[in-house]
Amino acid sequence: MSFSNQVKQELVRELPDKECCRRAELAALVHVNGQVIPMDGERLKLVVRAEQAGTARKIYTLIKSLYGLETTAHSKTLRRFKKTRIYEVHAIINKDAELWKKLQGFSTSSTRKRYLTANLIRRHCCKRAYLRGMFLSKGFINRPEGEYHLEIIFQELALAKEVQRLLTKFNLSSRIVERKRNLVLYIKEGEKIVDFLRVVGAHKALLDFENVRILKSMRNSINRQVNCETANLAKTIDASVRQIQLINQLVELKGWEFLPAQLRDLARARIEYPDKSLKELGDLLDPPLSKSGAAYRMRKLEKWAEEIIDFS
Ligand SMILES: [Zn+2]
Repeated sequence: MSFSNQVKQELVRELPDKECCRRAELAALVHVNGQVIPMDGERLKLVVRAEQAGTARKIYTLIKSLYGLETTAHSKTLRRFKKTRIYEVHAIINKDAELWKKLQGFSTSSTRKRYLTANLIRRHCCKRAYLRGMFLSKGFINRPEGEYHLEIIFQELALAKEVQRLLTKFNLSSRIVERKRNLVLYIKEGEKIVDFLRVVGAHKALLDFENVRILKSMRNSINRQVNCETANLAKTIDASVRQIQLINQLVELKGWEFLPAQLRDLARARIEYPDKSLKELGDLLDPPLSKSGAAYRMRKLEKWAEEIIDFS
């Protein structure tokens, strides 16, 4: 199962206790995937689409428990690209009923510019429920092993912007881009995606996401360390190659006996152990030399060798 579906399955099971939150969550589902179709006489049919059976069940339960409407669930196969199964929940609404006014408050009618009436999402709990409904409708989250990415797809800029504003109430910054005639609201920062999962109540998915994030950051820091060690090793070897060349030239010109005893031991150690650092070379000498002692002596040896080679 994709990580996105894992999150949705968890969110589907989260049925709000409070009526205010149920209303807000249903509103989000209707705002994105709902449609009102006129029927005979005074009646209207509300059709809400869902990509998962679980989401359809939730829409069904919300409509029933909130409004007690005559509700039916359907599934059909779309053949546009590949065979895709989609689900629909139908509810019959009487135009005159009080309910119709309420539903109008969050209908997808194009005459309404603002979707989120202040009442609907006044409370903190309802804001979270609304965002949960949004994610269930048209949300997508990439698996944490890959690139961090969470998005919600919209048809209308006005609604995308209202959701963007709503996210800022939870300190979540997002961006909106156009993609294939859709508007995509997305979040890229791993930390913010974790916050989003917390806000909508996907606690199990949040833990899974965090675990992978910790492993990834550990791996990165190990890689950084290895790169650093490799760089140091490369530096040691470069220096060592230069030192060995100088020593060999010097010995060729003057012979080993020409070198003072202290420098001779260090020079021999260098040729014998080309991959050792100066500190390690210092340890090998008798008596041993400190790292700075070995470095000082090596500089002296190099300078001296360069002068002699230059003059001969
Ligand atoms: Zn609430």
